[in-house]
Amino acid sequence: MAALLGRRCCGAAAVALWRAQRRQRSTFDVAVVGAGIVGLAAARQLVLRHPALGFAVLEKERQLAHHQSGHNSGVIHSGIYYTPGSLKAKLCVQGAALCYEYCDRKGIPYKQCGKLIVAVEQDEIPRLKALYERGLQNNVRGLKLIGAKEIQAKEPFCRGLMALDSPYTGIVDYRQVAQSYAEDFQEAGGTILTDFEVTDMEMAKESSSGSEDGLQYPVVVRSSKGEEIYCRHIVTCAGLYSDRLSEISGCSPEPRIVPFRGDYLVLKPEKCYMVKGNIYPVPNPRFPFLGFHFTPRMDGSVWLGPNAVLAFKREGYKLFDFSATDFLDAVLYSGLWKLVLKNLSYGLSEMYRACFLSAQVEELQKFIPEVTVNDVLRGPSGVRAQALDSDGNLVDDFVFDGGTGDLGSRILHVRNAPSPAATSSLAIAEMIADEVKQRFEL
Ligand SMILES: Cc1cc2nc3c(=O)[nH]c(=O)nc-3n(C[C@H](O)[C@H](O)[C@H](O)COP(=O)(O)OP(=O)(O)OC[C@H]3O[C@@H](n4cnc5c(N)ncnc54)[C@H](O)[C@@H]3O)c2cc1C
Repeated sequence: MAALLGRRCCGAAAVALWRAQRRQRSTFDVAVVGAGIVGLAAARQLVLRHPALGFAVLEKERQLAHHQSGHNSGVIHSGIYYTPGSLKAKLCVQGAALCYEYCDRKGIPYKQCGKLIVAVEQDEIPRLKALYERGLQNNVRGLKLIGAKEIQAKEPFCRGLMALDSPYTGIVDYRQVAQSYAEDFQEAGGTILTDFEVTDMEMAKESSSGSEDGLQYPVVVRSSKGEEIYCRHIVTCAGLYSDRLSEISGCSPEPRIVPFRGDYLVLKPEKCYMVKGNIYPVPNPRFPFLGFHFTPRMDGSVWLGPNAVLAFKREGYKLFDFSATDFLDAVLYSGLWKLVLKNLSYGLSEMYRACFLSAQVEELQKFIPEVTVNDVLRGPSGVRAQALDSDGNLVDDFVFDGGTGDLGSRILHVRNAPSPAATSSLAIAEMIADEVKQRFEL
């Protein structure tokens, strides 16, 4: 049975309340699929804007923010990297400001510990300067280029020729932020159903019979356990499964999602003194991933990574996790082969580094030469939902789409919300709420 998640209701009381509510009302104006940080931020924004309407969030796991939103670096990005004028750039800069303001208002702890993007080779300096220009165009606050001495003043163990100093970058626990969005949503009257894996959406049969509810809530959404809710509109924010949900609803399966796992190492507690703020490499411009970095965490630990290797399971957090469906889905997609052929040597070296700790430590030593294999342990992993088009290009910006016909025109799919979507979540939510209002005339 789907669980009704609420702060004040748990166990038997929650089940009784859910049963009672189901008898009375399993109809909603809008159902949001996915309780990651994007789905929860969107649902919160929708209920705040339309308090008279009924909203539900449907989540397949028993906990909120269980996938990407709970397995990430926890960095509040300042907006340096993204193409000026792109949604990513605009939403990250707005989102970071909104995130700090929200955390202040809610008393959610964060640290504005800053970040250095460090060039360790001469040939990285032109790319670093180009990043600086890009950051200025994106209106990122407080950026400056600094030399070797200033790098050491800020990060005594870090070596580098030149660095881009971004004091506005911070860290936060995004699971806590997502939980807070969920609380706002519920306090404003929204309903969260966990353990509700959406497997089917269709126009309800009874809508044609002319029954009052059937006409008003003509879409039926079913779970893998056969439970149903009725609604007028659907917004999907399903992360790693966003293409599958689009397909279920009769909308386009493309762009497809390709899962890229990111493994972290952690510094042993007695070595955490070596890192004060975020230390990042100059990124490879061909990839959307930011490279292996040093990131302090809110609990005082320091994570190193993540790498980026193709995962054989969408929600597979271990090196050898495998799902035949996910594997076949990926290898039968021509876009993946085009991507692999274009980036074979990069992909193989990432796989090699994933297997051998010493190879990852070598990368880290370019920045902090004192780090040794004895100072690190294998840590957690995350899996990125990366959209890939049929030509093998990684889709860089957010993608919204819906479909046509009775059902398709009632659905908005949020298909590509990669990093920095956690930073940008409040800004993305405003954009989703605008899009919902415009498409569905709420
Ligand atoms: C390794 C890594 C590091 C990152 N670092 C950062 C960072 O430092 N800063 C930053 O801003 N961003 C970072 N990101 C990106 C950020 O975490 C994601 O962009 C963001 O969490 C996406 O949120 P989401 O809600 O779209 O997806 P998710 O959090 O994955 O949520 C999707 C939800 O949909 C649910 N779902 C899927 N299918 C169904 C279904 N059929 N029925 C019901 N529910 C369903 C899933 O269970 C899941 O809870 C990182 C990501 C990764 C993986």
